Amino acid sequence: MLEVDNISIGYTSPQGTVQAVKAVCFKLNKGDIGCLLGPSGCGKTTVLRAVAGFEPLEQGRILLESRELSSRDRVVPAEERAMGMMFQDYALFPHLNVQENIGFGLRKLSADQRRDRVTELLALVGLAGFEKRFPHELSGGQQQRVALARSLAPRPSLLLLDEPFSNLDVDTRERLAFELRDILKQTGLTILLVTHNHDEAFALGDQIGVMNEGELLQWGTPASLTHYPASETVQTILRRDSLFERRQHARLRGSDQ
Ligand code: ADP
Ligand code: MG
Repeated sequence: MLEVDNISIGYTSPQGTVQAVKAVCFKLNKGDIGCLLGPSGCGKTTVLRAVAGFEPLEQGRILLESRELSSRDRVVPAEERAMGMMFQDYALFPHLNVQENIGFGLRKLSADQRRDRVTELLALVGLAGFEKRFPHELSGGQQQRVALARSLAPRPSLLLLDEPFSNLDVDTRERLAFELRDILKQTGLTILLVTHNHDEAFALGDQIGVMNEGELLQWGTPASLTHYPASETVQTILRRDSLFERRQHARLRGSDQ
């Protein structure tokens, strides 16, 4: 289980101090998909980076399987955490083919083991037979699935996904959200995902955390958020996001014709 226990994180720059994350608490059970949802700038990526080991904490702790990974005084370095990551600006290596991209983090395996693992992962993400293709020969959605396979390759203990659909067009995003949930569930991994998109959070999450201005306002199942929003702010964020998306969607559809 992942435990994020009362963490606060600030950034100091010449412009001043930003309190990016304020006393955030949640627990994510093994095998569950947790989604942090909230408007741009509310602190989602900062929480994810802290779980990955890239941000020191001002207060609080982060534990995985009861092992303390971060506290005020100590941060276990990212490379010792065995976490898989796919950040917003993920990019495949353009000069490597699909097989080489996915196998990149598997240098400790023998060539045979590496090939078997790549084949297994390509089947999982629905791209069997794509080993020799190069990134420029793939659609955006296919590239995204290769990037996902690459982050799954080393069998991480926890998978962190930051806005995994941000590079895709709206129609592909909708289709992939449900496909991605199936793929992720098959891996059995514990996953923490970040999105500003209401529909993606509800398509993917077993648990959803609604964030605003650095605070986690509510953490619960999609049904509990819908039926028992903890505050008007939560209700407004859920409503505003889905309305905004629907409008944007309609506009994009319109501009295609
Ligand atoms: P989100 O992912 O929800 O869009 P972020 O976690 O990226 O939000 O940012 C939270 C807040 O922290 C924002 O006000 C942002 O401007 C600020 N912030 C993020 N990264 C830095 C940084 N490296 N230096 C200074 N401020 C930052
Ligand atoms: Mg972000």
